[in-house]
Amino acid sequence: MPTALITGITGQDGSYLAELLLSKDYQVIGMARRSSTVNYERINHLLDDINVVQGDLHDQGSLLAILEEHKPTEVYNLAAQSFVPASWSQAVLTAEVTALGVTRMLEAIRLFDRSIKFYQASSSEMFGKVLEVPQKEDTPFYPRSPYGVAKVYGHWISINYRESYDIFATSGILFNHESPRRGLEFVTRKITDAVARIKLGLASELRLGNLDSRRDWGFAGDYVEAMWLMLQQEKADNYVIGTGETYSVREFCENAFGFVDLDYKDYVVQDPRFYRPAEVDLLISDPSKAREEL
Ligand code: NDP
Ligand code: GDP
Repeated sequence: MPTALITGITGQDGSYLAELLLSKDYQVIGMARRSSTVNYERINHLLDDINVVQGDLHDQGSLLAILEEHKPTEVYNLAAQSFVPASWSQAVLTAEVTALGVTRMLEAIRLFDRSIKFYQASSSEMFGKVLEVPQKEDTPFYPRSPYGVAKVYGHWISINYRESYDIFATSGILFNHESPRRGLEFVTRKITDAVARIKLGLASELRLGNLDSRRDWGFAGDYVEAMWLMLQQEKADNYVIGTGETYSVREFCENAFGFVDLDYKDYVVQDPRFYRPAEVDLLISDPSKAREEL
């Protein structure tokens, strides 16, 4: 029975990936950080079938101890400070977790067992102020937030451990992916949640920032399958995963409000509090390599 370690098991992707791996008869070890209250909402339905262990990407020893005890054959590094606005207010923490955390896990693999296959959750935010349209694996990076900068580090350190130590370290450059389990602060869930509240008479407006930025949005449940497929290839590599379509936040609002016969213009208020110091205006993927190879 293959054993997989998922960091970020309590997050959106961690929960979908755990479901997928269980359906493939994996033994699933999920790493969660200690907090004063348990936040297992997304994995409550899986607790009988997965083994949740405590560890933190800040803490090198905890990572090594988990590898030694559970001997995973695959490690999916999904843990991160993943919310772009928080990366300006907590820039150093974002670098510690989202960037250096990757090195801590790779070091643990290097020291314990170099045959472990490693997946790094890289991001389309690395393309930032895009230098090519659409974006593919060799499009140069121009990150626009401390989060994007940290992800560029995580991407390159994964490639470096691949080239330096022959570790199977793959980087999945995933475009935005959403689901009912997406954190409420991200724009898709913020909008759909508000639409429901407004329709039910529980709220009267929705405050948003930039309505003109465009994203290539996919479904998280599909994208975790791409993660798994990447680790089943003969060689570690980099893959862009996206839909190849892009829509504006405004179009998302039109659709979401329209779905319950409301006009977004009657409810959406643009609020400078939600503008970002530097914006990523346009993301659109060219996922042809993944389509052909995976
Ligand atoms: P979430 O924010 O939902 O989940 C992040 C996870 O990381 C949570 O389980 C969180 O734990 C955990 N975590 C945070 N800090 C630490 C730490 N110091 N030690 C251990 N665990 C920690 O993200 P998603 O599931 O949406 O995304 C998964 C990964 O993919 C992330 O790395 C994200 O940056 C990346 N990504 C996501 C995209 C998307 O559109 N969703 C696009 C491209 C990349 P806790 O619950 O305790 O906070
Ligand atoms: P990101 O692409 O990882 O930053 O995902 P988000 O869902 O946080 O943001 C997607 C886009 O929506 C960005 O261009 C934001 O500037 C834009 N946006 C507009 N208003 C809001 C808002 O109120 N909250 C968030 N999170 N994003 C917003």
